[in-house]
Amino acid sequence: MDCLFCKIVAGEIPGDIVHTTERTVAFRDLNPQAPTHVLIVPKDHFANAAELAAGDPVASAELVTTAAAVATAEGYDDYRLVFNTGAGAGQSVFHTHLHLLAGRPMNWPPG
Ligand code: 5GP
Repeated sequence: MDCLFCKIVAGEIPGDIVHTTERTVAFRDLNPQAPTHVLIVPKDHFANAAELAAGDPVASAELVTTAAAVATAEGYDDYRLVFNTGAGAGQSVFHTHLHLLAGRPMNWPPG
């Protein structure tokens, strides 16, 4: 399977990895939208958050606990977590990834 984030997990292409756990890898977004913009992905391939939650609920929870650990490590109590699901919602990479955004005011509703 030709999947960008599988290749980052496997070390086949470079990623600025900030944290790893048994089931997840966290690396900085190439095009950051906040001072901290980290993507947390499962090591195994799932297309989106719902498929991950159905297929590996432990890894699904680990995405969130990993995001919280990264936010804490970077000094943030306040942060935003986002799963874009489907192209119409802005998903461009079809390997589940949780966006962690922090370090600037977060507006609502999002764009
Ligand atoms: P999506 O639009 O699917 O929710 O998020 C995909 C994210 O992956 C985007 O924020 C984009 O900047 C990031 N991205 C795309 N290609 C790469 C890459 O090669 N390396 C890293 N670190 N991030 C990438």
